[in-house]
Amino acid sequence: MPCAKQSSPVGDLNSTFLSREGIPSIRSVPRPRPIPPRRAAQRLLAWFDAHKRPLPWRRDRDPYRIWVAEVLLQQTQVAQARPYFERFVGRFPDLRTLARADMQEVLKLWEGAGYYARAHRLHRAARDLVDHHQGRLPTTRAQWAELPGVGPYISAAVASLAFDEPVVALEANGLRVAARLRRDPGDLRSPVTRRRLERELARYLPPARAGAFNEAIMELGETVCLPRHPLCPLCPLRSNCRAFRTLEDPSAIPRPRRAVRRPRLVAAVVVVERRGRWLVRRRPVGGLLGGLWEFPGGKPHRGESLEAAARRELREETGLKAEKLAPAGVIRHSYSHFSVELYLFRGPARGRPAAERPDAPLRWVTPAEFRSLPRPGATIKAVQRLGRPGKREGAGDGDG
Ligand code: SF4
Repeated sequence: MPCAKQSSPVGDLNSTFLSREGIPSIRSVPRPRPIPPRRAAQRLLAWFDAHKRPLPWRRDRDPYRIWVAEVLLQQTQVAQARPYFERFVGRFPDLRTLARADMQEVLKLWEGAGYYARAHRLHRAARDLVDHHQGRLPTTRAQWAELPGVGPYISAAVASLAFDEPVVALEANGLRVAARLRRDPGDLRSPVTRRRLERELARYLPPARAGAFNEAIMELGETVCLPRHPLCPLCPLRSNCRAFRTLEDPSAIPRPRRAVRRPRLVAAVVVVERRGRWLVRRRPVGGLLGGLWEFPGGKPHRGESLEAAARRELREETGLKAEKLAPAGVIRHSYSHFSVELYLFRGPARGRPAAERPDAPLRWVTPAEFRSLPRPGATIKAVQRLGRPGKREGAGDGDG
């Protein structure tokens, strides 16, 4: 039941913070006088204590779990990250288990979460800690920042959330809140703006509860200080928010960024089948979708037909020469930062697969074996489209 009333204490207001129903309009709410930043922080913490969501990485202050969660949350929304987190820490409950794991298994658990470089870096850092630091996790921001792939945000987040180191940790949601508090028109991607906003929030940071404060700012950004429609009447920081106090529409901060067009890639792939198995290859580890398995193929050259591209890519990647290729459908798939149109061709091929390239090995796999390998989303869809390997194409060309 919506119960938002302007005169209600913060807790009552926020019992409905996810609904816009019954929330007074921003214009109708009086602008209170600013209060000292540390007092405002106490209000924020009281709101957070009462309303924080019971997220699985909040069960305790285990730095390993917090680290995994922060890596996942870097490019993934909470709702999507949650099942990945549960699966990941269910299989790798501690640092040593993760360090011992095969990278392919790590990628399989990451399959679908995108930005696979994160999984590679997490795994590499876990191995580094076990091999060179007796498996002990860092305890300070400076130590975390020395790990491969751990940047300024994650080092500050883990040090404060797990160990209460008094440092400000601002991810995308926190940056938005801080920019509005300060009515700062700066570009949130700029390191200069980021440092300015960190200095602003450092005035609020309660030394004894730095971790809870950082989490509360993130939570506020995710549930109340929304990008387009901030729910200011419900906000525990509104007395100190300059955007709320001085603008008709606080969502004017930060300035809207020009929409970036997601690149669209076109690729042609060949499904070669022999004796109920498909030939698949692993993508080079350092690149896009690194370490995932797919059918051989790639982008057509300028002026090259899709079928010609499929033949050429098959030859270059595997050494096989395609015979009669038949179109087998088109797969469209959107990843977080690009989309792909995958043209499938199917047919027999002559020759033996080339000697293995260590960075992109080849394998003949049954559908069940292929399912157990980490694969890009477009390949998963392609397999659903193909069904099982066809018997006809598999017969008579078997020298593999
Ligand atoms: S008052 Fe409004 S704009 Fe300011 S921090 Fe709160 S929700 Fe965001």
